[in-house]
Amino acid sequence: MLMEMMLDLLDFFMTALIILSGIFSVFLLRDSKKLRGMLYFLLGGVTFIGGTYLGQHEHILYQIGLNSNFVTFIVMLLLLAASVLWINASAEIYHNRGANIEALGLYMALGLTVCAYYAFMVNNQNSANMVSVIIVNASLLLLLVCLLSGFMQNKNIGGFLLIVSVLLLLSKSLAFTYITKFSETNTYIFDWLWLYVFAFAVFLIKINEQQSLLKKSWNKVDALNLQISNMIDSSPFPIVISKITGDKLLLINTVASQAFGISKKEASFHKLKDFFVDEVNRQNFFATLEKMHEVRDYDLMVCDLVNATPFWLSVSAKTIEYNNEMAIYMAFQDITTRKNRESKLQTQADRDPLTMAWNRRYFEKFVPDCINECIRKSQNFSLLLLDADKFKNVNDTYGHKIGDKVLIELAQVCTHSLRDDDVVARFGGEEFVVFLNNTDTNSAIKVAERLRQNIETTSVNDDNGNEIKFTVSIGVVSSEQTASLDILLRQVDDAMYLAKKRGRNQIALYDEQAVKEVLNKKTHKQNKDLHPIFQNEENEEISLLDNYDGKIL
Ligand code: GH3
Ligand code: MG
Ligand code: MG
Repeated sequence: MLMEMMLDLLDFFMTALIILSGIFSVFLLRDSKKLRGMLYFLLGGVTFIGGTYLGQHEHILYQIGLNSNFVTFIVMLLLLAASVLWINASAEIYHNRGANIEALGLYMALGLTVCAYYAFMVNNQNSANMVSVIIVNASLLLLLVCLLSGFMQNKNIGGFLLIVSVLLLLSKSLAFTYITKFSETNTYIFDWLWLYVFAFAVFLIKINEQQSLLKKSWNKVDALNLQISNMIDSSPFPIVISKITGDKLLLINTVASQAFGISKKEASFHKLKDFFVDEVNRQNFFATLEKMHEVRDYDLMVCDLVNATPFWLSVSAKTIEYNNEMAIYMAFQDITTRKNRESKLQTQADRDPLTMAWNRRYFEKFVPDCINECIRKSQNFSLLLLDADKFKNVNDTYGHKIGDKVLIELAQVCTHSLRDDDVVARFGGEEFVVFLNNTDTNSAIKVAERLRQNIETTSVNDDNGNEIKFTVSIGVVSSEQTASLDILLRQVDDAMYLAKKRGRNQIALYDEQAVKEVLNKKTHKQNKDLHPIFQNEENEEISLLDNYDGKIL
């Protein structure tokens, strides 16, 4: 007796444990649409197990004083409840597929209830049991059909296992009816088998659901990626993404591909540096980007690869992660018009508008830097001051227009006769100052003499085709005496004055003593306070400029 009680208790705990694991498995689906269907199936199964348990242990109910009819009634009620739950489960499963089977389920449940009521009322235990078995099996078959139709549409292992668990319940029902009544075969094996299969099916359904959710998310990500790349592509500004290591282009939008003259498909064959015109500009850009990870409104000179036309872009760039690698995102703006305007303004500010030589302002801004550079490199430098001889006569004889032409020609001869890093500036009127980089006194004398000769052999034509010649007097100084620009400018002016006094069309190296003598002579002779250079030339005796075929300058 005690032993039997212990076994019953064990049975009870085992069943409770199995039921709990079944419920826990449904809990997995708490967010799922399939929850109600699964819950009805589970509760139906649990009620069925409860009913069969009581059917196999009728003595428990007899012990508490119930008669056999009432016991049959309770068992029947439980089996009937299980059937109703399964019909609901099948209705839910069908409902998920859009078919309206609730009505059918309801009619079936009502019909079965009437049968059960009749079976009980005839007071025949066997017929009552038979009706309840028919009810249970019919509702399980209905559930099976629903699951099968679902499985046919969406074949997955979870659905298959659900079908297996229904078949296990059917087997249990048959075993309960036909085997236990005649033998002591334990049908509990079906209880835990179906519940574990059911739990496993739920678990797999959950995994399947997660996978389809993941797939949906990826699809969304793909759609978003497509949207972003469409936006980048249709941007009115050129956009380029390039790899940091290896400098390979990863993406180029339509406007950029037109601007740089490459097709989007061949972008990956190019490097970002292919488009830069100025290497220093490029290095500065990358150095800033490396340091700050972001660059805004940086002016770059680039060129398109088809006809190598250079143009200006303002770029804003940022380092980003693109397809799992570090990349540079760059958005450009065409600023060629602005740059051209700027350079025109710069020219206007720094150049003399008539001769296009540098102006005095530029000379005073730029030459001190050149001097510092020479001092740093321990190099000499020299200054020349050129003044057109008797230029007033040119104007008076041929008019200002021809005078201008002579000045233009003079500036050009200077520029063409000198090196690129020498600076030729118009200081005023018909005076030009030349800064000679890395040049000592001897070389400066040679350069000045060559320049004088070049000018002497040059000519311009007037409107009648007459050839007009002109000469210059050139003062020469070098940094060998002093490196002060102010002093050198004063000295070179004096040197030029010496050249004038010595007869024009010649060069004169600054010589303090000679300058003093000339100035004294002048002061003594004219007895005036004015600087001799401003004095009336008519008083002078020296004039070597009457030699040019009667064309007196
Ligand atoms: P010197 O040999 O002593 O230098 O004689 P000069 O006639 O050249 O000297 P002066 O300083 O008396 O005359 C300079 C002349 O240069 C006066 C001015 O009319 C002329 N001049 C200055 N600027 C321009 C210019 O832009 N265009 C023209 N056509 N003439 C200019
Ligand atoms: Mg002058
Ligand atoms: Mg002059």
